[in-house]
Amino acid sequence: MDNKDIKVVKFGGSSLADAGQFKKVADIVLADPARRFVVASAPGKRHSGDTKVTDMLYNCYELAAKGEKFDNEFTAIEQRFNDIITALDIDLSLADEFDAIKYAFAHRAGRDYAASRGEYLNSIVLAKYLGFEFIDPAGYIRFDETGAFDLETTRSLLAPKLLATEKAVIPGFYGSMPNDTIKTFSRGGSDVTGSIVANACSAVIYENWTDVSGFLICDPRIVDDPKPITTITYRELRELAYMGATVLHEDAIFPVRKAGIPINIKNTNHPEDRGTFIVSDTAETSRYTITGIAGKKGFSVINIEKDMMNAAVGFGRNVLRALEKNDVCFEHMPSGIDTMSVIVNTESLIGKEKAVLDEITFRCHPDKMEIENNLALIAVVGRGMRKARGTAGRLFSALAHARVNVKMIDQGSSELNIIIGVEEEDFETATKAIYDMFVLTED
Ligand code: ADP
Ligand code: ASP
Ligand code: MG
Repeated sequence: MDNKDIKVVKFGGSSLADAGQFKKVADIVLADPARRFVVASAPGKRHSGDTKVTDMLYNCYELAAKGEKFDNEFTAIEQRFNDIITALDIDLSLADEFDAIKYAFAHRAGRDYAASRGEYLNSIVLAKYLGFEFIDPAGYIRFDETGAFDLETTRSLLAPKLLATEKAVIPGFYGSMPNDTIKTFSRGGSDVTGSIVANACSAVIYENWTDVSGFLICDPRIVDDPKPITTITYRELRELAYMGATVLHEDAIFPVRKAGIPINIKNTNHPEDRGTFIVSDTAETSRYTITGIAGKKGFSVINIEKDMMNAAVGFGRNVLRALEKNDVCFEHMPSGIDTMSVIVNTESLIGKEKAVLDEITFRCHPDKMEIENNLALIAVVGRGMRKARGTAGRLFSALAHARVNVKMIDQGSSELNIIIGVEEEDFETATKAIYDMFVLTED
């Protein structure tokens, strides 16, 4: 087959949660011979209130690492896989695999190893069901000594392997370190594996199959039935993914972007829906002024005041050096003439508040300084905002009508996004108000 025809398909946890979902996945994969490389997640939730296999593995390993008994927890994990195998009626026993994993747990093989077994086992089952080869990414997806993903080495190992393989299932979420121990990406990392595989085989497209019909304008847990985005650029998506639109792992963009491979987010439960195309550039004007809205809670702001700050050369640099010294990243830094606010992730500041404030005092001698917590950030993103006049005005009038107090505003110079900071308790109200203003009233 011509290599140019390869499609890489990744199925998320909910798409592979039980035998019924496996059947849908097989129908999708087998409907198109170009779908040659399948990246699989561990079984996810079958219904709300259920537990993902990855979480079951973390919990089970925690007991093992403490030297406590973990048989019951492990049996529940075995059961999830055995239920799938039985219902699909495939000729496969994972008994030896379970024994090996249990042994490794008892001998403290590591938390990452433990978590990775969900995708490992699920991919063995899926490969058998589809009649595809199974490729263990431990031998191909590599991290460097610092724990950073190593695209060059990975490509040099994975590309020839894929070239020599007709069809395969590859577990998502993990690879290995130079000393061959297993390492996982952060949560949701099977998306990253899919992107790496697409890069390594120069796929025409990376199809990311999930439980929603594409990237929606905003989180469906906040707004009921939001409209899907038909086409979005990598840059817009990165802004949204970073700010909490978790459909796609934020690091899944780089490997495909580098190779110019589009991503299509599709719904396993509604394969006929077009889904969302993520592309490097598009001439398609977006239907609405904005492309999407996303946000996150859990930020803090350090407010700094000093008379004549505008004339103090190096003031900003000194503030940032104080953060750097304490290993704290900053997210935004809106400033006035005599004021500066530095927004940081609250978690990264916990336990370091005093050290950071002391360091800023030492370096900058501010007149006044305070830390405010419980800030939520909302990013309003869209390539169409550059052309539309009055976007900021409409945004703030929508928030004012909804009685939301805006605590911070930051507009990137690319005019691709406006970031606002609001009290955490106003987060949902603000998101809904923005959606109503830019989507419902523009329909
Ligand atoms: P998978 O298990 O397939 O990787 P995820 O749970 O990681 O799926 O991502 C899909 C989920 O992301 C959706 O079910 C939805 O609840 C959530 N989500 C958050 N923001 C958005 C958004 N803007 N568009 C679509 N889904 C979103
Ligand atoms: N199973 C892993 C998780 O739950 C990775 C993934 O699903 O992408 O985070
Ligand atoms: Mg996911």
